[in-house]
Amino acid sequence: MSRDPRYDILFEPVRIGPVQAPNRFYQVPHCNGMGSLRPRMLAEMRGIKAEGGWGVVCTEYCSIHPSTDDLPHPYASLWDQADIKAHALMTEKVHEHGALAGVELWAGGAGAANLLTREVPLGVTSMPNVQGHPYQTRAMDLKDIRKLRRWHRDAALRARDAGFDIVYIYATHMYLLSQFLSPQHNQRRDEYGGSVENRVRLVRELIEETKDAIGDTCAVAVRMSADDGTGTLEHPVSDDRREMFEILAEIPDLWDVNIHNYEHEMGVSRFVQEASLENTMSYVKSITSKPVVSVGRFTSPDTMVSQVRRGIVDFVGAARPSIADPFIPRKIAEGRQDEIRECIGCNICYTGDSLSVPIRCTQNPTMGEEWRRGWHPERIQPGSSHAPVLVIGSGPAGLEATRALGQRGYDVMLAEASTELGGRITRECQLPGLSEWGRVRDYRVRQIKTMPNVHIFLDNNVSADDALSIGADHIVVATGSTWRADGVGRYHEKPCLDLGPVEQIFTPDDIFRGRVPQGKAVVFDDDHYYMGSVIAEALVAQGVEVCFVTPENLVSAWGVMTDEQFQTQQRLIQLGVKIITAHGLDGYDGTNARLGCVYTEQSRMVAADAIVLVTARTPMDDLYRDIIARLESAGPESTPVPTVDKIGDCNAPAIIAAAVYAGHRYARELGPDGVRSDVGRQDKVFVPD
Ligand code: ADP
Ligand code: SF4
Repeated sequence: MSRDPRYDILFEPVRIGPVQAPNRFYQVPHCNGMGSLRPRMLAEMRGIKAEGGWGVVCTEYCSIHPSTDDLPHPYASLWDQADIKAHALMTEKVHEHGALAGVELWAGGAGAANLLTREVPLGVTSMPNVQGHPYQTRAMDLKDIRKLRRWHRDAALRARDAGFDIVYIYATHMYLLSQFLSPQHNQRRDEYGGSVENRVRLVRELIEETKDAIGDTCAVAVRMSADDGTGTLEHPVSDDRREMFEILAEIPDLWDVNIHNYEHEMGVSRFVQEASLENTMSYVKSITSKPVVSVGRFTSPDTMVSQVRRGIVDFVGAARPSIADPFIPRKIAEGRQDEIRECIGCNICYTGDSLSVPIRCTQNPTMGEEWRRGWHPERIQPGSSHAPVLVIGSGPAGLEATRALGQRGYDVMLAEASTELGGRITRECQLPGLSEWGRVRDYRVRQIKTMPNVHIFLDNNVSADDALSIGADHIVVATGSTWRADGVGRYHEKPCLDLGPVEQIFTPDDIFRGRVPQGKAVVFDDDHYYMGSVIAEALVAQGVEVCFVTPENLVSAWGVMTDEQFQTQQRLIQLGVKIITAHGLDGYDGTNARLGCVYTEQSRMVAADAIVLVTARTPMDDLYRDIIARLESAGPESTPVPTVDKIGDCNAPAIIAAAVYAGHRYARELGPDGVRSDVGRQDKVFVPD
């Protein structure tokens, strides 16, 4: 297929100072839980982005000197020769595909506690660590500032030696340079504080000194937020911030513009839609002739083109869309935009950084596995035969197994008990704010429907006899899980015996089926991710008076990992939901819920017409066990015997990303004799020769 001419503009080369990007697709810096700890995994992952057509591929935040470290969050570093060598792995991979490699040089200020190096963090003033660690920065004196400038210059030289084409001055995200810019944080009385000129002085010096050091070969980019958080909804940009952009306008080679509010900038789709930064950052292009890049979780080529044509940006910036589909540019270039695996805005990718583990993605099961397992997001080895495979269940696990097995050339039968594909995706994407999650199903169904070797059987509740009589060489059970109605979870390790009339007890599965409580309901969330709060929101929309109870200290506490916890709790407060934290559900008599304080065990009563339990799930593995039992009772002489496996939530209930991964892994590892399980290789800290 050929490219739709409407998208030609996205493939124009763009000059950035001394270098030229081959097109307008720009993977902005994004964290990935690998950093300097896992350089080979990182290099392979970034290289695949370049292969997928991203014209610029950047690192994550990259510490310039041991005076800034962010462990346990894995950051990149350019401290010494070993780091140069490690980064060269990445720049070589990126260059192989004709893309430019960018590095985001970083000094942490009050954003970094230096838990590894134990150096006293340096800040614009003496201020507490913004991540909540019990440390404060030391206010930098003029000697410190001179040192910082030297460290930055030296890191820029190392960046050039590592093969980078674009070197960043990183002046946003609450790190050191943004604190110098800030009218709130910068309370200095010397030439680096006070007036706008003084507050931008350090950023300006760093741009000029970086250009002086490496500007003949590398472009110098500045990442800065279009607003400073002091504006209003109608006027988000203060005069102060605009003036800063005007002063610096022509000095760097490229502007990478974001916004002050990080939870908005990388907000989950439940709260933030595509292209939502435009309103705040669109003015920047009018005050500079230099190219501008910004993000907005762009997955639609039409939106990308619109942003470029209307002069909002020169480059289409992306972190998450490039994670969910590293091949977006190539797919658009080849007229295959229908094949884009669109990001769903769930922020599971961000948990890699939050939890200090390699990045994972709900939509892209190969993300983070490019080096470890040698997985490619678009290619997969053909199967050794066309052996028939029966996949039972079409949730994320079954759908991804079907898609990837189909791609390998297997003859796949996908059986689904209900009349719709998608399993939990189809149920959950009906909930408030989760409609984009339907993309997990839609991408796979679109792909499967183009495969002549895949056959779908809807409305087909498969029994063990059915499964064994269909003639499949391989059977994979992906029948999912159900929410428990007995209270078992983290708070109750065994069934809560005191749960009142069964008709007044509900689970998320009841709500999905349209069985909704009336009057006052206690939502007991012992799951701690999104489900409890989304169910609460759905009930409020149906006129239920909700009291949200959690043994945690926060609503949807695990949402801290995906950076949505604050907005989640804010949403429930705004909806008028009564919130009771640090309490478990101890009993219910049909009229009152008895709650126990997790600290004191003191009881309190809350009037409730119903209880909604969001606690834990039961794997639906009866079918799997039935099939195994039949095979065992038939004895070894009954041939041929199919291989039988279970994957996804029916194996172990977990997040959607885990189910997609399980489906993909099954398909990758299936051979003539069944699945050959492989744990993958482990990246170790890079040791120079
Ligand atoms: P996962 O997250 O592991 O993919 P889901 O719960 O999303 O699991 O999906 C499981 C799917 O399996 C559901 O759509 C359900 O209707 C289907 N299913 C369950 N039991 C059977 C069965 N015996 N035959 C066919 N489909 C089944
Ligand atoms: Fe998008 Fe979710 Fe993948 Fe992140 S994990 S890239 S938000 S689909």
